[in-house]
Amino acid sequence: MSKLNELTIAQAADGLDKGEFSAVDLAEASLAAAEAAKGLNAFITLTPEVARDRAAASDARRAKNGALGPLDGVPVAVKDLFCTEGVPTTAASHILDGFTPTYESTVGRNLIDAGAVMIGKTNLDEFAMGSSNMTSYYGPVKNPWTGPGGEDLVPGGSSGGSATAVAARICAGSLGTDTGGSIRQPASLCGIVGMKPTYGRCSRWGIVAFASSLDQAGPFARTVEDAAILLGAMAGHDPKDSTSAPHDVPDFRAAVQGGVKGLKVGIPREYTMDGMPAEIQTLWDRGADWLKSQGAEIKEVSLPHTKYALPAYYIVAPAEASSNLARYDGVRYGLRVDGDTLDDMYANTRGEGFGAEVRRRVLIGTYVLSAGYYDAYYVKAQKVRTRILEDFTKAFDDVDVLLTPTAPNAAFAIGAKMDDPIAMYLNDVFTVPANLAGLPGISVPAGLDKDGLPLGLQLVGRPFDEETVLRAAQAIEDAAGFDALPKYLGGQG
Ligand code: GLN
Repeated sequence: MSKLNELTIAQAADGLDKGEFSAVDLAEASLAAAEAAKGLNAFITLTPEVARDRAAASDARRAKNGALGPLDGVPVAVKDLFCTEGVPTTAASHILDGFTPTYESTVGRNLIDAGAVMIGKTNLDEFAMGSSNMTSYYGPVKNPWTGPGGEDLVPGGSSGGSATAVAARICAGSLGTDTGGSIRQPASLCGIVGMKPTYGRCSRWGIVAFASSLDQAGPFARTVEDAAILLGAMAGHDPKDSTSAPHDVPDFRAAVQGGVKGLKVGIPREYTMDGMPAEIQTLWDRGADWLKSQGAEIKEVSLPHTKYALPAYYIVAPAEASSNLARYDGVRYGLRVDGDTLDDMYANTRGEGFGAEVRRRVLIGTYVLSAGYYDAYYVKAQKVRTRILEDFTKAFDDVDVLLTPTAPNAAFAIGAKMDDPIAMYLNDVFTVPANLAGLPGISVPAGLDKDGLPLGLQLVGRPFDEETVLRAAQAIEDAAGFDALPKYLGGQG
């Protein structure tokens, strides 16, 4: 049998049911793996006490033949953007120093109710702003995959710690958030599965807000089935979030096995990008062939406004961020840096508390919302957003799901692209449109590039049709048979 921390969620749940090991055994294995992986810097806070308590409680429920949840006894890691009752929550920012929430996010609560065992809070880009985990106040996360010259690579971002925790087999599942690609892009760069559900599928209540009209929580896992199990536990209507959808949660796990026979798969022409490595195009073509050979019909579609998605995102997201981050004023949360006047205290606190990328976003956001520029930038970007949604709506008249690459590149070296924000922002060129349109998307590991680094393929579906997305993702997973291991686990020959 593999080591307990190397089991998938489905395997761990099955082994618990059969009494092969206990939840405490699983938690200890994950905690030990987390300790051994300290050098990857995937966690900001480990929570061994919480893990041991919840694991023991799960074992006790099982011993008494009590009601069990779908994740009962399964260890998970939680992005440190989710408020956790009694456990520090930092958003990887200095400004939240000392902030310990007295409440649990709704998604976190749903996981607790499903029996999950939190082992810790994972590292991320500060306030989830980034594509490489380089903007964290707590330092960069290392991808378990290593570059061809042995160099350390970024795991992607912003949910880099959550992706690394799963890719390094510390735990089988973790929580992320995705505002413009922060689940799907790190999943692609770390060789695992990551899913952004439809906007409104998971409650945003108790998640530190970045851009409220784009943020969505979602799962990381090593298999599509595991992602489906996690999503099923996370999702559901929440009266505390007015944008949470009043929809029933389907049986996502059952949907995974649906197959793709007769499914119409769209290939958006505009996603062929200049300068994209040839191997990504090749992998994308192969992905289409895989689906076709399993009975899907492949059709080219057009999403003509794709090229405006990234510019529109980098107006809308900073605008919302500048407004959301106004609450960090040295009075209500975390850090306070005193000054001679109240205004000085605000300025000192925000100047010292926020890192450079967050300050850049607040400045851009304030600028595009200011009286003289509101119509020129913000209103224009909102109009573009509507066009992008219309493109998708039209495409989904003809096809059931779209297949694209997840990211235009594999993992890159720690420190690369840091002096070129535009190059950094390009990481999200294929993921951002689904956020602007609120659509569900998933990244599935599909192959390796010439340097032996993982590449993902993305599937995007109709609103609230995660089931079709999962079916198609399972078909890609089956055909790709991705089983390569990162250097950290003895792979990469
Ligand atoms: N990389 C994008 C950004 O920096 C997306 C981040 C995210 O999805 N949280 O805004």
